[in-house]
Amino acid sequence: MAELRLEGRSAAPGMALGELVRLRRATAARTASDDPAQEARALRAAMAAALADLAALLAGADAEGGAILEFQVAMLEDDLLAAPALGAIAAGRSAHEAWSEALEAEAAGYESADDEYFRARAADLRDIRDRVLAHLCGTAGAVQLPAGAIVAGEDLAPSDFLSIDWSRGGALALMGGSPTSHVAMLARSRGVPAVVGLGPMLAELSGEALVDAFRGVVVVRPGAETRRAFEQTAQRRREADNRAAAAARTPAATADGTAVRVLLNIADPAELDGLDPALCDGIGLVRTELLFHAGRGLPDEDTQYLTYRRIVEWAAGRPVTVRTLDAGGDKPIDGLTLDAETNPFLGVRGLRLCFQRPAVFMTQLRALARAAVHGELKVMLPMVTLPRELAQARALLGEAVASLGSAGVAARMPALGIMVEVPACAVAADLFDADFYSIGSNDLAQYVAAAGRDVPALADLADPVQPAMLRLIAGVVAAARMRGVEVSLCGDAGGEPAAISWLLHAGLRSLSMAPPLVGRAKLAIAACDLRRPLEGPPWRP
Ligand code: PEP
Ligand code: MG
Repeated sequence: MAELRLEGRSAAPGMALGELVRLRRATAARTASDDPAQEARALRAAMAAALADLAALLAGADAEGGAILEFQVAMLEDDLLAAPALGAIAAGRSAHEAWSEALEAEAAGYESADDEYFRARAADLRDIRDRVLAHLCGTAGAVQLPAGAIVAGEDLAPSDFLSIDWSRGGALALMGGSPTSHVAMLARSRGVPAVVGLGPMLAELSGEALVDAFRGVVVVRPGAETRRAFEQTAQRRREADNRAAAAARTPAATADGTAVRVLLNIADPAELDGLDPALCDGIGLVRTELLFHAGRGLPDEDTQYLTYRRIVEWAAGRPVTVRTLDAGGDKPIDGLTLDAETNPFLGVRGLRLCFQRPAVFMTQLRALARAAVHGELKVMLPMVTLPRELAQARALLGEAVASLGSAGVAARMPALGIMVEVPACAVAADLFDADFYSIGSNDLAQYVAAAGRDVPALADLADPVQPAMLRLIAGVVAAARMRGVEVSLCGDAGGEPAAISWLLHAGLRSLSMAPPLVGRAKLAIAACDLRRPLEGPPWRP
């Protein structure tokens, strides 16, 4: 039969060739009892068994997988989740029907949300639904797959992803799904190639499949010519990976010998485990939102202090820039961010929210001032719009240092800088009394182009190196030079090879990026010659 090519979206880069395997949790007919009390007991027992499964998976999970599983544990432990199902059981419905319907209604609610982040959480709810159902129907068990399988499905539950042994290779090919889902995040951090949005036709197909998750393409039953081309591309990718791994260990410089500082973006100290600090010139962005997630409640001062201190100690004298809480927008936090904002990206997010939650903000500032004693910790404020916001935050940080000092607790006033990610701040950067600037190109690009960062169809407009962005970036660099302070860029563009020469030509000499991108970024820096003007219009074709 002829080969078939399906196009989707890349959710985690990489290439794989293997047998297409549809993953379905086995379901079995279940005979319900006539007694509502017995059905309610069966549901509670199945929920307890599902919780025990999750606890076992948690024991072997890393920080990222753990955070996702803890989210599911918190949902399952929340009495509100089972309430509608228990109500339906009391009215005579069987446990499996009641649970299935209640969880599907909840998942559908998430799926109809405007925000892609919330839509992606529907997969977590269906994961919980199916795990409990498997226990109710007596079909629970580990997921068994042949080595190197291309796992196909509508979407994949995060806990199913975590129960697959990916050390034997393989890839994910999903008919639906989203690059911002938990399963996509897991695939990226474990190096499992993943393509999402392949469409319903995949359900009908079987046999061998090629996955090119760099391009977002899956070819089922590939012919000889396609296989040959695939092998050649895979070989080129392997060679590029080896070159990047070697480049990652050397200091970054352009072809004309200009030094460029390469910093890391992290969201969890566990990302630094096993990494050599010599890879980088410091940490340019610690996103602190993850600390405030996973159903654990808000982290107290000591918990935060120990986390920041661990990162500063890892950096061994290199600077570490910690961003204060940037909740809201695409990073909602239960119980902290405002519900029902009509446009959360233009709402009370970042520093604006911190000013409305002074106790939460003060706890973080105190923890940061204490951790600053252990190395070169700098504090960075997100979503700054007007100079007076920086002055207000500086006064609060000063108060935190003073009150710690008078209580005899070791603390230090760290450097205080700003993310430049709101156009009002970028245009008037010279008016801000910041100790340093870091350009947040993800948000700046969406606000400059009026094109949401969560709207894939507008990705071309929210281009971080379109002409207006490059003018703004050059302006911020000039403001920083005039004021004699450092400027860096910590949006995703900093780790994107295609954007790097534009950023360097705009004047930047410091870029911050996710750790796996360092090697390829250093190669792109080395390929850039600042003596030669860039050819072509300042945007990508
Ligand atoms: C940015 O906006 O570019 C940025 C680095 O912050 P975040 O992506 O966390 O909003
Ligand atoms: Mg931002």
